Amino acid sequence: MPVNQIPTRVTAAQEFYVRLMRGDHSPFHLCAHSLTPTLLGAEPQDGPNPLTGDQPPPLVPSNPRPESVPEPQIQDAPKIEDASQPRVVLLGTGGGPPAVAHRANTATAVAIGDAVYVVDCGRGAVSAYVNAGLSLGHLRAIFVTHMHADHNGELINFFLYGLHPQGPAGGGLPARIQVFGPGRSDELIAMGAPIESPICPSAPMSGTADLLSHSIAAHAGHLNVAKAAGFPDIREAIAVTELTVATADNQASPLAADLGLQVVTADLGVVDAGANSEPAPAMDPVVIMEDDRVRVSAILVPHGGMFPALAYRFDTDSGSVVVSGDTAKSENVVALAAGSDLLLHEVMDAEAMIASGMPEQFVREILLQVHTDSVEVGEVGSEAGVKRIALHHFVPSQPGAVGDDQWRRQVSRHYDGEVIVGQDLMSIPLGTH
Ligand SMILES: [Zn+2]
Ligand SMILES: [Zn+2]
Repeated sequence: MPVNQIPTRVTAAQEFYVRLMRGDHSPFHLCAHSLTPTLLGAEPQDGPNPLTGDQPPPLVPSNPRPESVPEPQIQDAPKIEDASQPRVVLLGTGGGPPAVAHRANTATAVAIGDAVYVVDCGRGAVSAYVNAGLSLGHLRAIFVTHMHADHNGELINFFLYGLHPQGPAGGGLPARIQVFGPGRSDELIAMGAPIESPICPSAPMSGTADLLSHSIAAHAGHLNVAKAAGFPDIREAIAVTELTVATADNQASPLAADLGLQVVTADLGVVDAGANSEPAPAMDPVVIMEDDRVRVSAILVPHGGMFPALAYRFDTDSGSVVVSGDTAKSENVVALAAGSDLLLHEVMDAEAMIASGMPEQFVREILLQVHTDSVEVGEVGSEAGVKRIALHHFVPSQPGAVGDDQWRRQVSRHYDGEVIVGQDLMSIPLGTH
């Protein structure tokens, strides 16, 4: 096919390809040179395009780091002397959508020897996990704090990319991964108002089993072919525990049952909680899991209409770490984190959001009802008596939008301990303080 003209009858894909080849990419706003290797499976070529004779445009990153954004200050990260040392690894530290460059969404690993536990699986979690040098063969359990996509969007990816036979390239996932997360909620509110014309009326506030079972169904082709090729059966690789409260819709996911997915519920013992009433009434932490490395406790936290929302605490022989999840300032986080060695807390700079042009009323009356301002994070750490605070789930989340010193200064207004400003792939040792 000549590449300098578009035939009269072409598919959209053919038209795209022809325009790409002749360098006429203005309708698509794409860079032909940088896309060609990806689309054609070829290495980028120096010199003119062999088909068109056009000189390629200069090769530049499609998403260059703005000059105003500093490089991650890896040298500031606490150093790990020994990879086997118990540690918390920040796989992703960015707050919710939209996606930003150079920072993944929220995910955290707690690594205790050859046992790894993951809390949340936002965008980039699986890549970060392997980039951090963690073995999928060591993954024991995944804990989802709540059902926002910046915390669970990559949950299925741990199985799609980790569920393979053990081989020279590394170990596949072990026999069965435990997945803990919220059950369904039957309260449909957002911004304090009912949600009209909800998507998926049969389960509009989906739970962890819904997320996994529908993801499995969507990838059934891949999973069936892989199973026929000798890969593990995903239905035998997952054990879901949905954390529920008495007032929520605790109906099991019908699709999970159809698939034969192992799902059990664990009632948190709270009878007066609800998205529309009190999403996080005062309660004692509930132990939800215990093995030879960790004891994990959960507590409800207030995160608006996204209910139930949870914070988790890991107690280990090397120390304790609490992951707040997304939450407004909460006495339940104080109770869960009491006396802990490390509090990994979400953080928002409300003044920076207002200064960036976001309406002040929206920030104060909406965002601060579901997130915690940096000054408040220090108050939580002080009230809980934690030894160290580490910050993640930054809002705003663009690296450099708020300087590290500013985050630290604001948290330290009411907190005397060490404040660690998190970065993607930062490791924080446990048991050395
Ligand atoms: Zn979030
Ligand atoms: Zn959230």
